Amino acid sequence: MKFTPARPPLTGETLDSLAARLAERGEPAFRAKQILAWLYKKRVRAWDEMTNLSKPLRTWLAETFDLVPAALVLNKQSDDVTDKLLLELGDRSLIETVIIRAPQEGVGLDQSRKTICISTQVGCAMGCVFCASGLEGLKRDLSAGEIVAQLLQVCYREDALTPRARMELASFDNIVVMGMGEPLANYDALLRALTILNAEWGLGFGARRITISTSGLVPKILKLADEPLGFRLAISLHGATDEVREKIMPVNKAFPLAKLIPAVRAFSEKHGRMITLEFILIEDVNDSLEQARALRDIALDLHAHVNLIPYNTVDGLPWKRPSITRQERFADILRAARLSVTLRREKGHDIAAACGQLRLKTEKDRATAVA
Ligand code: SAH
Ligand code: SF4
Repeated sequence: MKFTPARPPLTGETLDSLAARLAERGEPAFRAKQILAWLYKKRVRAWDEMTNLSKPLRTWLAETFDLVPAALVLNKQSDDVTDKLLLELGDRSLIETVIIRAPQEGVGLDQSRKTICISTQVGCAMGCVFCASGLEGLKRDLSAGEIVAQLLQVCYREDALTPRARMELASFDNIVVMGMGEPLANYDALLRALTILNAEWGLGFGARRITISTSGLVPKILKLADEPLGFRLAISLHGATDEVREKIMPVNKAFPLAKLIPAVRAFSEKHGRMITLEFILIEDVNDSLEQARALRDIALDLHAHVNLIPYNTVDGLPWKRPSITRQERFADILRAARLSVTLRREKGHDIAAACGQLRLKTEKDRATAVA
């Protein structure tokens, strides 16, 4: 289940780990910073572009590290809003990274707010019955370098669209860890990747603009609460009572609401920030008004923001989104309690739904091509 590449990716190194590796070769400590500036600030695509390094050092680097361990195989601009990158890893696994552009009035699309949705595993072991990512189980965890590489691929794409003068800054506003996989089930690689993205020698991206979404691994939520970097947290709730939640999310058996809610409360008290409850609306499964009232009570208790997401149909699965009237009736119960609620209906806007499905289709096409 673990994939060990021939050469470790440079994108998985921290300033310290790279400096230690270079010290073995007798290189001064500042070299590590120089190399990472080429990678993250200048965003060169080849070792030979690192022109202030000697030729022998560049040769050694090329023999020792893989520069970026994810290659772009398909870029699918599905509409004005989402831009999906299908990436292939060293073992031919496919992952999806999605750029979601929220158009703003009076500015071009290249200046719109951009949210990047990244994956943390190939597949997922959690088995939520409605989700495309989990349909074929877990193939493997991503390494820290593979997680970071997704952001670099997004930067390459954005750099090509925006003027060169803006290149040094990563030109997006938010990162959401809502792609394929359960991020907290790959905790160490996730934290290492986010540390690299956050560091001033890395992409320099603020922790408060990074949201981690989890299906509710309670011990890991508590562990995350103790981390020095204050990431934002989103919980995939999708059921406001154990009865409904455990029908669609097997994780609820190990961590029912009586365990999950106190852990979420502990997290938000520690960080003093609002957390988000995500709630996919699935017809006749969790869209009743009793569920809306139970969700309202949980959200009030946790002072949480609620993100209602009309279900996006998945090929081969029977679930459907409720009618718009029903969605609105559900939302109205939350709004009446003065909760902060979003209900997005525009095509392509639901980040979650955008992830996972392109990969599944390409894997299926590949399988048919081989058969
Ligand atoms: N494993 C993590 C993060 C990835 S899933 C988690 O579950 O939170 C990101 C979000 O997409 C989750 O809220 C998930 O429930 C939601 N999602 C999965 N399939 C969906 C679909 N078909 N339509 C809408 N949202 C979906
Ligand atoms: Fe995994 Fe999240 Fe999908 Fe559940 S919703 S199967 S945890 S990716």
